[in-house]
Amino acid sequence: MTAKLWIDSDVCMSSGRCVADLPRVFRFDDEEIAELVPDADIDAEFDAHRDLLVAAVRNCPAGAIHLQEDGVEVEA
Ligand code: SF4
Repeated sequence: MTAKLWIDSDVCMSSGRCVADLPRVFRFDDEEIAELVPDADIDAEFDAHRDLLVAAVRNCPAGAIHLQEDGVEVEA
């Protein structure tokens, strides 16, 4: 299983939900736009906590978080 996770920084509205819920994976940059924690192991996170990553996608109020599972986008 290969997971790909990314954030569309152009639409992030800085709600902080992802940062609060999953700080191992998400953090704010200097402008309070969400970004991935640089050393986060997304494949390991996906294997151990798929539900949390899917919840992050679904709970983002801006639809800014994207997750692909073996090339297929997980629907928000
Ligand atoms: S939950 Fe979405 S809108 Fe809120 S900080 Fe994270 S990426 Fe940005």
